[in-house]
Amino acid sequence: MNDNIFDNVISKEFKNLYNNAIDSLLSINGLTVPCLLRYSGANNTVYCNNCVYDTISGLSSNKYNGTGPNSFANGSVCPVCVGMGTTISASSAETLYLACIFDSKYWLNWSSKSVNIPDNMVQIICKNELLPKIRNATEITIDTEIAKYGNYIYERASDPEPAGLGSHKYIISMWKRK
Ligand SMILES: [Zn+2]
Repeated sequence: MNDNIFDNVISKEFKNLYNNAIDSLLSINGLTVPCLLRYSGANNTVYCNNCVYDTISGLSSNKYNGTGPNSFANGSVCPVCVGMGTTISASSAETLYLACIFDSKYWLNWSSKSVNIPDNMVQIICKNELLPKIRNATEITIDTEIAKYGNYIYERASDPEPAGLGSHKYIISMWKRK
């Protein structure tokens, strides 16, 4: 099948419908859950995982973000980043909201790949902008709310792939339970 035929079969309207469906999946009211990404490698600058970042000042807003490891009173200095809003370290972590699909029936772009459904795998879908972070992550703890009930730590099982019809607005990656 060449690209022209593909473009005719899949109309612009259908592409928009498809992309809008993924947008709503990824929206804050969609199916995303908080995930803790751990990075390795020196000199990573990452947003502080403990406080709300103030994009205007480029510093911490001095407000606890509700998910970080060290809660603190509003208006006092974040104990994790000491008010900087970002941290630099050889090994660091941050929480992102990602769509995590455990049931292989609902995986995107999967059917053509393999008849074997691997156990303990999860598909993670996110926006294209998060590609560097997904690439840098050495492990992901899925849903920091439920993680206390079991092992929800995953390591990457495949390279992230672009997804989306017409535009590559999304990234799909496969992760397996550690
Ligand atoms: Zn902070």
